[in-house]
Amino acid sequence: MSKISWNIIVPVKLPIDLKGVKPGELPGHLLRPARGEGGKPCGQLHWLAAAAWSAMCEAAEKDGVILKPVSAGDTYRTIKMQLTAFLSRYQKEPIAGAQTRTYEGVKWYKKDPKLASLAAPGTSQHNLGIAVDVHTASEPKRLSWLVANVRRFGFSWEVVPEEPWHLRFTEGLDIPAEVKAYMEKNNIEVPAAAPSRAAPTVNLNVASPISTSKKNEFKELQEALKSKGFYNGEVDGTASAELDAAIKAFKIANKLKNDSVVGPKVKELLGLK
Ligand SMILES: [Zn+2]
Repeated sequence: MSKISWNIIVPVKLPIDLKGVKPGELPGHLLRPARGEGGKPCGQLHWLAAAAWSAMCEAAEKDGVILKPVSAGDTYRTIKMQLTAFLSRYQKEPIAGAQTRTYEGVKWYKKDPKLASLAAPGTSQHNLGIAVDVHTASEPKRLSWLVANVRRFGFSWEVVPEEPWHLRFTEGLDIPAEVKAYMEKNNIEVPAAAPSRAAPTVNLNVASPISTSKKNEFKELQEALKSKGFYNGEVDGTASAELDAAIKAFKIANKLKNDSVVGPKVKELLGLK
């Protein structure tokens, strides 16, 4: 562990649009791709955390420090993702001296002290889309940069000094000035309220009703978006709010217009005809 010390633990102010949202079940319209290596998407974050993270990555890069998530799974985690990871590290059978977690009202024991700790499903800030684990965060140059700069972008650690990689966005809608400037520069706006089922906002540039060939086209679209990590729903050829959000997220990630129209450029980027 690095000798650099820090005491930047700031309590989280939850973005208002996360109130009442079940951890690990964020609706698609609140999620945006997280910035990975070279600006490529890597996982997802709550839109505000995603903007703050991108702003911070760009600033770090200017100082010669590369920031990226450890993996796509170390950004927003669905309940299913958290549960899979949890079950691989914790068991119900008691182990003397093992670290414990409470999940579903019972105690769970960490299988091996060498394994990194993990929050029980639904209790991690990764389930809210506001936490991101920084790749090789304890590398001294990177850690020094983070210590000096995370607050400018509204991030803070949660567990110190054990988890130098785990940062979470703490500022809710009190968006730090540098993040605001980044959002203005990149035309990032507060997402509209959740698309309601009664009034579909799906705008996939197709006439209804959906023919079989359109259905196949949608399937290909879902498949392609899924393979790139933007779509988590069924590959069933149905136009849904989730597909709509996935297209938007993909277009934003590729610096295209913030809408869900599938034009030639989108098709080209997705490898579709
Ligand atoms: Zn973490």
